[in-house]
Amino acid sequence: SANAPVTVIGLGPMGRAMAAAFLDRGHAVTVWNRTPSRADDLVRRGARLAPTVEEALGAAELVVLSLTDYDAVYAVLGEAPPAALKGRVLVNLTSDTPDKARTAAAWAAERGATQLTGGVLTPPSGIGDAASTTLYSGPREVFDAHRATLEVLTTPDHRGEDPGLAALLYQLNMVMFWTALTSYWQAVAMAGAHGLKAADILPLAVDALNLRQFLEFYTPRVDAGDHGGDVDRLAMGLASTEHVLHTAADAGVDTALPAAVAAVFRRGMDAGHAADSSSSLVEVLKKPET
Ligand code: NDP
Repeated sequence: SANAPVTVIGLGPMGRAMAAAFLDRGHAVTVWNRTPSRADDLVRRGARLAPTVEEALGAAELVVLSLTDYDAVYAVLGEAPPAALKGRVLVNLTSDTPDKARTAAAWAAERGATQLTGGVLTPPSGIGDAASTTLYSGPREVFDAHRATLEVLTTPDHRGEDPGLAALLYQLNMVMFWTALTSYWQAVAMAGAHGLKAADILPLAVDALNLRQFLEFYTPRVDAGDHGGDVDRLAMGLASTEHVLHTAADAGVDTALPAAVAAVFRRGMDAGHAADSSSSLVEVLKKPET
């Protein structure tokens, strides 16, 4: 399907970058957005702005959805008669929960459409770059049929048939990304309280957030259920997380994040893991807090 026509629905920063990438590669691009003015630049570059969602769906078999959440997906697609969805491939790159992705895939199937769920692992600046990746899940043969078109956006990585899988992997990515990035904002705030700028801690931050050796060390042990305390002990970890908490408190900055981390370590201690590795927190985190 080289140079197949495509429709892009949702022109936030991500949808605009995607429509632009398709235009750059010579695809006929139809766009639709709730706020039509966001299409102005794309129209100047040759995109067609569909006046209705129905016409946007009618313009291409492949329809990229790049909306804020799945409520917005239903709000937008609900504007068109259900028959307009028949035969469409909905490349749903909208972030939301795995359950919502599965429900939407079934909703699409009832209307004769197929959903490919996607999780885009790059900011808009990485769209159109083969070094960027998007995780996909859904019917393999539909993915294969449209692979060449999807490659215009990023390198596509099909992970399985379950429409919730790409959404799950995306959320796993985001829990790590947001938590790690927030830890950096915390460090910058703590540094600032002592007169240090972000630039003063850049090399330290880069090293601290490069966790590869820890991930590679713990992965086989965690999968084997081995939480041996030969390398690190949770009791040490709790003391360390409390030092962080006290340093934040002494600096007069917000303590919510370090307090939350120390609280998880304390629950591990309460569960009897004092002499185990901090990897034993996986067992604690498997259940909701009681
Ligand atoms: P935005 O939230 O900026 O995109 C919003 C789009 O959704 C706009 O087109 C907006 O329309 C539309 N929208 C929201 N609510 C409604 C509604 N109720 N009815 C109709 N349209 C609605 O997100 P981005 O473009 O940044 O990202 C799109 C998706 O990609 C998100 O799910 C995001 O999580 C994901 N993503 C984003 C990344 C990024 O760096 N930006 C990185 C990876 C993934 P309007 O213009 O009218 O407001």
